[in-house]
Amino acid sequence: MTQKEENILIIGAGLCGSLLALRMAQRGYQVTVYESRPDLRTTDISAGRSINLALSDRGLKAMKMVGIADKVTPFCIPMYGRMIHDIEGNTFASNYSGRTGKYINSISRGGLNGLLLTEAEKYENVTIHFNKKCTGVDIENTIAKFKCYATKEKFEVHADIIFGADGAGSALRKSYYLEKKFLFSYSQNYLTHGYKELEIPAGKIGNHQISKDHLHIWPRGEYMLIALPNLDGSFTVTLFLSYDEGEYNFNNLTNIEKVTEFFKTQFPDALDLIPDIDHEFFNNPTGALGTVKCSPWCYKGKTLLIGDAAHAIVPFYGQGMNASFEDVVVFDEILEQHQGDWSATFKAYQKARKEDTDAIADLAIDNYFEMRDHVANPLFKEKRKLEMDLEKTFPDNYFSKYSMVTFDENIGYAKAMKIGRAQDKALLNLIADHEIDTSKDLKSIFDQVQQETSEILEED
Ligand code: FAD
Repeated sequence: MTQKEENILIIGAGLCGSLLALRMAQRGYQVTVYESRPDLRTTDISAGRSINLALSDRGLKAMKMVGIADKVTPFCIPMYGRMIHDIEGNTFASNYSGRTGKYINSISRGGLNGLLLTEAEKYENVTIHFNKKCTGVDIENTIAKFKCYATKEKFEVHADIIFGADGAGSALRKSYYLEKKFLFSYSQNYLTHGYKELEIPAGKIGNHQISKDHLHIWPRGEYMLIALPNLDGSFTVTLFLSYDEGEYNFNNLTNIEKVTEFFKTQFPDALDLIPDIDHEFFNNPTGALGTVKCSPWCYKGKTLLIGDAAHAIVPFYGQGMNASFEDVVVFDEILEQHQGDWSATFKAYQKARKEDTDAIADLAIDNYFEMRDHVANPLFKEKRKLEMDLEKTFPDNYFSKYSMVTFDENIGYAKAMKIGRAQDKALLNLIADHEIDTSKDLKSIFDQVQQETSEILEED
């Protein structure tokens, strides 16, 4: 590793910031990271943020890049598909892919973030400061302002390059807006739904009480519940519900009788597994869900937004962290090509990445409707079955939209969206118009779907 002259300042030691710190350290830069929260390896700060997440191939590619994939695996629980729970308590499983060996991983946010911090700190050219909140950035002079939570002291840090990896509420992004040095486009769209986390504890012998091989979904149209397994036998359950619309919403579920009525009528089998619902429902925070899009991400060759700070998305495709990790992979490749020309690197990076991050933001919104509603719809189920059969029979030639987004780190999100949407439309048209004769051999169905998909792509 050759030592580089530039001092790099990273704001935020979350998933993206700690991975970026590790990678920049490997490249020989002097890296300083400031994080507003305490060190999660020594303090329990899980409340309020998703406790576990789905890590898939794009994220794993980043772990391979920094050489820690084998250290991540012990934190992972493979989930091979969705387990749908209907209102009567019946379940049906739906694989994520017709190809064998394809799964996403349930992983602890704290465990993964802690590992990344520890790996970054192994490099002597990395220093991480906790409890230091960035309050603004002088982007022209690359000076970041901080406040220390412990001492209340205010101080400034000068760096050659500043990265904003400070999540959806980014202080660097706010400074772009407030400093008005350039035309900065910005949009933030909240869903009318928020989320709240609950827990299915481990069984008496530390066992998982429902299948740990699946991501569980209780789709109910206007709202839904999902659950991902944890290594200790528990599941983290997330309720997605409107703040103020419909018969049941966060604003009117104000007492335990109403909450119990809601769960008893809508999620009876889940209720049986959540013994502490009264405490958890009223003590765990309700989080908002939104999409942030903005441009440009950089100011000259001085500052860059990365991860959620540049493109926060709703969690329904399980890709926010994966996309943020992929940011670091793409950035690293472009940095290599431009060899120290930061302005060219930042511009080329945004050019390479913006269309893809816009696409995953849109796909995540699509999946919001798919998960809470369509997964239980007979037409959707038939389409999904056909997709699985096609993937199984033509593993080298047929890739569903979900597979392209989740399991193919070599295709960009934008291309996956374009082809995947056309394929979905083709399949749904053919099924709805009864043009697919499922008694026919799969090869002729495959040809029919490819033909219809090409026609749709040509029309667009
Ligand atoms: P963050 O993780 O938000 O990290 C930002 C860091 O910056 C934090 O540590 C924060 O404390 C710090 N910070 C913030 N402001 C300041 C400041 N002013 N000064 C200093 N430090 C600051 N993604 C997936 O891929 N799969 C999933 O299954 C998935 N599930 C999700 C479920 C939910 C309910 C939610 C809300 C999100 C989910 N995501 C998922 C998305 C994922 O959490 C984010 O995309 C990911 O955390 C982005 O990483 P980041 O480092 O860019 O931002």
